[in-house]
Amino acid sequence: FQLPFMINQLSVLVSAIFTTVNCPEDADNFNNLFEMMIFTLENNTNAPAGTIIKADKQVLEKTRRKNDVLQILKKAVYDNGFEVYYQPIYSVEKARYTTAEALIRLKSSEIGYIGPDEFIPLAEQNGLILQIGEFVFTDVCRFIMQEKLWEKGIEYIHVNLSVVQFMQDKLYDRLFQIMNNFGLDYRMINLEVTETAAIVSSEALKRNMEKLIEKNVNFALDDYGMGFSNTSCLINYPFHTIKIDKSMVWSSMQNDKAKKILEQTISMVKALNMEVVAEGVETQEQAQALKDMGCDFFQGFLYSKPIKAEKFVELLK
Ligand code: C2E
Ligand code: CA
Ligand code: CA
Repeated sequence: FQLPFMINQLSVLVSAIFTTVNCPEDADNFNNLFEMMIFTLENNTNAPAGTIIKADKQVLEKTRRKNDVLQILKKAVYDNGFEVYYQPIYSVEKARYTTAEALIRLKSSEIGYIGPDEFIPLAEQNGLILQIGEFVFTDVCRFIMQEKLWEKGIEYIHVNLSVVQFMQDKLYDRLFQIMNNFGLDYRMINLEVTETAAIVSSEALKRNMEKLIEKNVNFALDDYGMGFSNTSCLINYPFHTIKIDKSMVWSSMQNDKAKKILEQTISMVKALNMEVVAEGVETQEQAQALKDMGCDFFQGFLYSKPIKAEKFVELLK
């Protein structure tokens, strides 16, 4: 591994990372040994060359858990094992809730509640996210119509879309079809995408955004301040809303530099005529500071955790 390979005059240096397993204490058969090696290596692809990682029994538990979740996920897709929760979003200008974010939950009788941070990445790896995404979108459309949410002061609902959904050229066709089935006013939807979608499938994202925005569906850039937060994303895509990631909100309370960055980010977004939502607002102090900085909307546990649809309707009343 110290010498490069030559491929078409390109010198390619291959590096290696190692995993060690204590046998037979931690793995007494080939399958377990192999599982432990693969899991450890897959989860450390960014480790510097030459790193030696010790795999232990916990690794085996993690792979088991991953496999269990995968099985539950596959089953849930076919027998409606999901539920859509709603987290209200508070408008500073109107001093009430004007929107909410739809957040999916996976319930399992075997291992209880499983959070989306755990199962969405798995669903993205095996393509199940396409069916899950459709389920969420359909359920949100049905809910808006059934409860006539616009009569309860809700102007639109935020729905998360995965980068994988944007790899479909004609995602917009399917979304229009679903909205039409319910006779939904397109303005009731605000689609959240992360910067990754712009990086991974920029052309498809652009085309889908154009088609949807033309008919008044809005878009929000999610988790701003967490990844690369390229301003090019703000320049090149017609976002209606920017959602500031909770990590940025939280660090601004502890660190002066972070506070200045947050202040300037909010001013920048406002100057670009976009609306700004702060996520992860947990304390009155954070809400006040964000208000002083000119932030338009607050989402966070200070107001409400994500709640069941019926509870959300009660809260609105
Ligand atoms: P996200 O889009 O950034 O959603 C916001 C997450 O922050 C939610 O976690 C919410 O419960 C949490 N949160 C909101 N306010 C606070 C707060 O004040 N403090 C703290 N500590 N957390 C707060 P959740 O519901 O677990 O969702 C995690 C992620 O899973 C979401 O992050 C989103 O990326 C993904 N996700 C959820 N539902 C869907 C979906 O329907 N489709 C897709 N593609 N992804 C989804
Ligand atoms: Ca989101
Ligand atoms: Ca977010």
